[in-house]
Amino acid sequence: MAYNITDDCVSCGACLPECPEGAISEGNPYMINPRLCTDCGACAEVCPVDACKPILERLAHGS
Ligand code: SF4
Ligand code: SF4
Repeated sequence: MAYNITDDCVSCGACLPECPEGAISEGNPYMINPRLCTDCGACAEVCPVDACKPILERLAHGS
């Protein structure tokens, strides 16, 4: 599994330095490389708009 960044992302950049795996890259929205993400949740903790979500959670909510 992996985290994913939704379209709610406002490209603030807060999550980028928090990822211990270097899995996040800049963009609009920012993106997470699922092959590197270890589901640590650090990005979700700092995101001001709650755009970092576990992929399974997104499926469960139909987004
Ligand atoms: S959950 Fe952790 S490893 Fe995955 S993108 Fe967020 S900070 Fe990086
Ligand atoms: S912290 Fe949230 S809003 Fe900011 S760049 Fe990362 S995903 Fe986007």
